[in-house]
Amino acid sequence: MNSIVVNLMKVRERIELAALAAKREPEEIELLAVSKTFPATAVEEAMHAGQTAFGENYVQEGVEKIQQLAKLRPWLVWHFIGPLQSNKTREVAEHFDWVHSVDRLKIAERLSSQRGEFPDLAELQICVQVNVSEEATKSGISLADAEELCDAIAKLPNVILRGLMAIPAPSADPSDQRQAFARVRECFKHIQITRFSNPGYQFFDTLSMGMSDDLEAAIAEGSTMIRVGTAIFGKRDKITV
Ligand SMILES: *Cc1c(COP(=O)(O)O)cnc(C)c1O
Repeated sequence: MNSIVVNLMKVRERIELAALAAKREPEEIELLAVSKTFPATAVEEAMHAGQTAFGENYVQEGVEKIQQLAKLRPWLVWHFIGPLQSNKTREVAEHFDWVHSVDRLKIAERLSSQRGEFPDLAELQICVQVNVSEEATKSGISLADAEELCDAIAKLPNVILRGLMAIPAPSADPSDQRQAFARVRECFKHIQITRFSNPGYQFFDTLSMGMSDDLEAAIAEGSTMIRVGTAIFGKRDKITV
């Protein structure tokens, strides 16, 4: 059997075991296959193994792949998960279904108005990226400022606020990993509870956290969407990461 198919089976098994250990239903956790740096053929292989949600980090590479696979579009859902500059928002608004990496209002406003130029497209699904490790170089808004940004995005047309995304600093220590994920979950739950009846919050259900090396810790702390690249497609060329 082809390795992507086998890898997908292994990742799905890890999700099941982690969910069981956390007394959660495996169906609560969606698997996003991060296909950055891998060709469209790799996406097709994963699709034939039942994978439909794919994540891309680089606008140009992602748009090219989406266009190459246009015929499969009805089955595929494309998530933009990389850093987003304002001069690239139009392409993202035109081609992607989700954006996980919104960390300032200006980007959300541009995505909102540009999505409006494509009336045939459904609303763009948006997660706010939070910076849980407070590293100066990492993208993401601080946990303290996340609520205010969410409130502003909830009011925008053509986009739907779906939840929070985080990439904690890598750590080999599972308890460090869990602490970082727990902080994001607390912020997420707080926003959910305090705003459950507010307009623009009816679909605030997504906690996007966990990657190849820390998906168990993320699932233990309530992740609803894990973003997995290496464990599905193999190691990436360092230069392009
Ligand atoms: C590359 C990437 C991933 C996947 O990372 P792996 O360690 O390869 O699973 C997940 N999320 C984001 C934002 C990424 O850039």
